[in-house]
Amino acid sequence: MSQTRSSSERRICQIKRQRTRCLEKFYRPRSLKFNVTSTSIESSPRLTLVTIATYTPGYASKFPVLPIRTSHAGSSLPAPTSIPVKIYLTFDVEVWCGGWKDLDARFPSHFERYVYGRSRKGEYALPKTLDILDRHGLKGVFFVEPLFAARFGIEPLATIVDLIGARNHDIELHLHPEWADEIQPLPFPGVTGKRQHLWHYSCDEQTALIALGRSLLAQAGCDTIKAFRAGSFACNHDTYRALRKLGISIDSSLHAVLPDSGIDLRKQLGFFHPLEFEEVRILPLTVFRDGFGQLRPAQIGACSFAELRDAIETAADNQTEHFVVLSHNFEMLKQGRSEPDALVVSRFERLCAFLAEQQGRIEVSTLSDPPIRIGTQSHPPLARAGFAATIRRHGEQAIRRFLG
Ligand SMILES: [Zn+2]
Repeated sequence: MSQTRSSSERRICQIKRQRTRCLEKFYRPRSLKFNVTSTSIESSPRLTLVTIATYTPGYASKFPVLPIRTSHAGSSLPAPTSIPVKIYLTFDVEVWCGGWKDLDARFPSHFERYVYGRSRKGEYALPKTLDILDRHGLKGVFFVEPLFAARFGIEPLATIVDLIGARNHDIELHLHPEWADEIQPLPFPGVTGKRQHLWHYSCDEQTALIALGRSLLAQAGCDTIKAFRAGSFACNHDTYRALRKLGISIDSSLHAVLPDSGIDLRKQLGFFHPLEFEEVRILPLTVFRDGFGQLRPAQIGACSFAELRDAIETAADNQTEHFVVLSHNFEMLKQGRSEPDALVVSRFERLCAFLAEQQGRIEVSTLSDPPIRIGTQSHPPLARAGFAATIRRHGEQAIRRFLG
């Protein structure tokens, strides 16, 4: 009991420090003075820390959405909603053979690396990813690429579905149409040569490929697909027409900084916030501003832990509804090898520990449980990472280049 209380007290101190940092970040750039006058604990369905602060009057209407409840100069601000930001830890699961020649000979060893990633230190592909999530009590969304099974058989795909499904994580559909011309029989007439991206295919062809992918996953044991992500995020308007036809109502294929993503939708849609289009609810990959002001996708292999933490904290403070993080089944492996990349492993471990600690303020969610709600509120500002966090990423990249 006393152990529980002491851990709760530590947690409250930690939240107080975070809230004060958050106030500083909000007020100081706007040259507003603030003064934290008191803090207290409010009982609600969840334990909530309320910070009371005073600040220069007159700005309330300009910046009405504050991360904390505040009081100022006799008037009251609307209390922010207590809905936690939903975080989606998404993993694109795919198997490649290091080229398109001798596919049948190469497949078994590449499958081993991409799915298990065995090394003397452990299995750092799917098994370790699942272990880390489970250890922290978090659920992942696994977008599984199934087209390879139309070439090599259902069994290897069923192995992937079993590994993920046995731990009760969410399985959804990912699709790399590079496989289309390797399939026998061909999925539709005229598939000759490589067409890398979905937007290279007509609406009817995309519909046929997505339907084939869903059917392969059903044969492998997963017939509950609700969400889709295009390979390389390379969707276009026809992708959404195809999803609507097939009744797949959730998508996460928009990537603001990849030019091939939503190639014909750039002027029509915003890529930074959730939206509904062609009766499909779209949760774009989250992109934040790094410490240099550059746009950065929230990918575990491409950001320091501190950047991801800062971005998630600012998203929570800004009342962001959805935050989509990207990783892969092979993200914790060194490039081209079946050995763990200690830097990425450490980032993922620390991110999961952080998310587990923050429950209440944020909620790690999946795409299969509750219906995805796309709010009508005005779009909050992009999440941000601090300068030190981005410098840390550059340092880590330099170390990785040095160590190989
Ligand atoms: Zn992919």
